[in-house]
Amino acid sequence: MMLNIGNFMAEELDPFKISQQQLDDAAEVMGLDKTAHAILREPMETLVVNFPVKMRDGSVKIFKGFRVHYNDARGPSKGGIRFHPQENLDTVKALAAWMTWKVSLANLPYGGGKGGVICDTKKMNQTEIENLSRGYIRAIGRFIGPKVDIAAPDVYTNSQIMAWMTDEYSKMLGYNEFGAITGKPTEIWGSEGRFNSTAMGGLYVLREAAKLRKMNLKNAKIAIQGFGNAGKFAFDLSRNLGAKVVAISDSSAGVYSPKGLDYDKLAAEKAKIGELKNYTGKDAEKVSNEELLEMDVDVLIPAAIENQITNANADKIKAKIVLELANGPVTPAADKILFERGILDMPDFLVNSGGVIVSYFEWVQNTQNYYWTEDEVYKRLDTIITKSFNDVLATQKKYKDNGKKISPRTAAYIVAVERVAAAMKVRGWY
Ligand code: GLU
Repeated sequence: MMLNIGNFMAEELDPFKISQQQLDDAAEVMGLDKTAHAILREPMETLVVNFPVKMRDGSVKIFKGFRVHYNDARGPSKGGIRFHPQENLDTVKALAAWMTWKVSLANLPYGGGKGGVICDTKKMNQTEIENLSRGYIRAIGRFIGPKVDIAAPDVYTNSQIMAWMTDEYSKMLGYNEFGAITGKPTEIWGSEGRFNSTAMGGLYVLREAAKLRKMNLKNAKIAIQGFGNAGKFAFDLSRNLGAKVVAISDSSAGVYSPKGLDYDKLAAEKAKIGELKNYTGKDAEKVSNEELLEMDVDVLIPAAIENQITNANADKIKAKIVLELANGPVTPAADKILFERGILDMPDFLVNSGGVIVSYFEWVQNTQNYYWTEDEVYKRLDTIITKSFNDVLATQKKYKDNGKKISPRTAAYIVAVERVAAAMKVRGWY
C-alpha cells in the first residue's frame, strides 16, 4: 500500500512492511546477526479463521479473524484483539511484531501476539457483538491459553468483550480459566487499574520526557487524537499533571478550545452523542483530525490508529513532544523528519506499554489467585515503565558516545531486539 499526496514522495504504508523496515534499520545500527534478523522479520505462526455468527434478524454471517504468534523465545505470546472494518493479516502481523518489542522492552516474560476480526461494531448491537466475541474464541480457542498466548483488549474491544470471551473459553475447557485473557472486568478477576493503564503508563513516560526537555507540564497545552481506551483516559489523567487538553478528536471529528476542554462535560457529551461531529457545545470549535495534528501545542498525543504522521505532515508538526499512545501512528519517513527537527518523538512500544504491563500483573494475579490494590499496581507500573524509558536513554547515550546519533525509536528497538536475539541464541535457535 503506497500513499501519494501531491508533491510528496510515495511512502510505504503497509504496517507489516513498516515494522520490517524499522527492524532492518535497528539491525543495521546494532550489527544484528543475520540469522537472528531473518527469524525476527517474520511471525512464527499465523492463524486465519472464518466463523459463523448469528445476527439479530436470524441470519448467519461469516466473519474472518486472525491470530498471530510473532516470536515466543522469551515466553508465551501476548497481545490484544482488534475489531475493525479494515482489519487484515498484514496489520495484525505488524501489531504482533510491535507487541514482541513492547514486551521485551518492558522486560516481561512474554513474546508478541495479536488478533483481529474484520467487522464494524458500530453497526452491530450488543447481542451480535457478544455472538461475534464468542464465535471468535471458539474458532481460535486451541491457539490461546495462559501458557501459550494470552489475549487482551485493543481498538474497538473492551472489558465486557473480554468477559464474554473468558466465559466462552472456560466453557470450552469445562473449568474456569481466568489467565488466558487479560483486561477483564474486576468482577471476574481483572486487575485493578487495568482500565486506564495504557494512558497512565503514557503519562509516566511524558513526565520523564518533560524532565528531559525541561518542560513544565503545568499549563502545558496538549492535543489528543483519539477518544478510545487510550485517548479518553489520557484526557482524564492529564488533569493530574495540571496540563490543559486544548483539543481532542474521535474518528469523526475533533473539538478545540484554547482555554482547555472540560473532561467531565465532554466525556458525558461524547457518551450521549456518540461521535464528536455531532457536538454542538458553544465552548469549543470543531477541527478536523488533520488540523489537530498540526496544532501549536506543547505535547501531541496520537492515540488512535496507524499512519497518522507521515512524510506529508511531519514537517508541519508544531508540538515539542510527540507521545505515541497509539500503535504505529508515525511512519519511518516521518520519524526521520521529526528527529531531524529536534522534536522528541517517544515511540509507541514504550509509550503505550502500560496496558500490557498491567495485563502482565493481571496474569500474575490470576495465576497466584492473590490480588493487589490499585495503588500497588500503579507503583509497579511506574517502576517498570520508567526503567524502560531509562534503558532507551542509556542506549541512545551509548551510541552517541560512539559517534552515532540514534532516535528514541531505534534505541528502543535495539534494547528489545537484543533481548529476544539473546534468548533465541541461548535456546540454540541460531
Ligand atoms: N492492546 C494493548 C497493546 O497494544 C494491550 C495488550 C495486552 O494487554 O496484552 O499494547
